[in-house]
Amino acid sequence: MTTYQMTRRDALKLASGAAALGVLGSAVPQFAEAAAPMLGVSRPSIYRFKLGAFEVTTILDGFVQGKGPHPTFGSNQPAEVVQAVVQAHGLSTTMHENPYVVTLVNTGKELILFDAGNAKGRMKTAGHLSDLMVTAGYSPAQVDIVVITHGHPDHVGGLMTDGKPVYANARYVFGASEFDYWNKGENIPEARKATRDVFMSQAVPLAEKATMIKPNDEVVSGIRAAPAYGHSPGMLAFHIESEGRRLYNWADTANHYLISLQHPEWHAGFDQDKDMAVETRKKTFDMLSAEKIPVVGFHMPFPSVGWVEKASTGYRWVPASFQFNF
Ligand SMILES: [Zn+2]
Repeated sequence: MTTYQMTRRDALKLASGAAALGVLGSAVPQFAEAAAPMLGVSRPSIYRFKLGAFEVTTILDGFVQGKGPHPTFGSNQPAEVVQAVVQAHGLSTTMHENPYVVTLVNTGKELILFDAGNAKGRMKTAGHLSDLMVTAGYSPAQVDIVVITHGHPDHVGGLMTDGKPVYANARYVFGASEFDYWNKGENIPEARKATRDVFMSQAVPLAEKATMIKPNDEVVSGIRAAPAYGHSPGMLAFHIESEGRRLYNWADTANHYLISLQHPEWHAGFDQDKDMAVETRKKTFDMLSAEKIPVVGFHMPFPSVGWVEKASTGYRWVPASFQFNF
C-alpha cells in the first residue's frame, strides 16, 4: 500500500516535472544533430511581369565565369583604367561573370521567344532555357515565334538539339542582313569561324520556316525591329509595346551593366565592328534615357530589366525593382 502510494506520488511528481520540462523545452530552440548541407550559390532564374496586355518573362539560360573584365571589356584601354572602374563599384578586378538571359513575350495571341540561348551541353553552367521554360509554365511546343537578334552561339545555340528543332511548332524571324552574313560566310574573321559553324548547324536548317526582316519591320503588332549593328554585322534590337507601355530589347548592344554604360566608347573584344558598336551604344543610350524607356538586355544582371540614366560620366544602369509588379 505504502509502496503503491509512494510510487503514485512519485509518478505524479515525475509527470509534473516532465510537464515543466516540456514547457521549458518548447522555449528552447531545437537544433538538428546533423548540419544541413552547404548548397552553393542559388540564382534567381525566372521573372515575369506585365507590360500592358502582354506578359514578359525573362529566363536565365545560364552564365559563364572567367578572367576579366579586361581585356574583353575596355580592350582599347590600359588594364588599370578598367580595373579602377570595376573596383570603385565593388566588382572583382580579376574575375567576370557574363549572364545569358532570354526574353519570352506572351502577347495573348502568340508566345514569342527572343533568342534561344546556348546549346544544351555547351557548358555546364548554361543551356538551361528549354528546361526552365517548363518551370516558368510554358512548354517549348507552345512557342509560336522565335526571334533571333543576331547569330552568336549564345543566341542561336539552343535552336536545335540532336539535329531537331527545340521549338517544334515555331516559325522563325531573323534579320535579313545578319542571316545572309553568316550564311554566305564571306569576310568572317578568324575568331568568328566557330560562330559561323554553329550558325550553319543551328540556324540555317530553319531558314525555310523563317521570315527575314529589316529595321522598322514588325514581328507582330506591337513588336518592331530597330538597327543595332556593330556587335554583329546585322544585329537587331526590338521595340515592344502594349497599351502604351514600352520596353526595348537591346540584345547585345551593351554587354556589361557598368563598363558598357559608363564608357560606351570603350571597345568590347567580342564586338565585330568596334566603332559601329560604340556608335550604336551611344545612340541607343541617348534615346532610352531621353524617353525613359525600360530595357531588357541579354547580358544584363538577372532579371535583366532596367533603365538607362545619364550620369556625370557616360550612363548608368538602373535595375528595375518592383515597378513592373503591379
Ligand atoms: Zn550575347
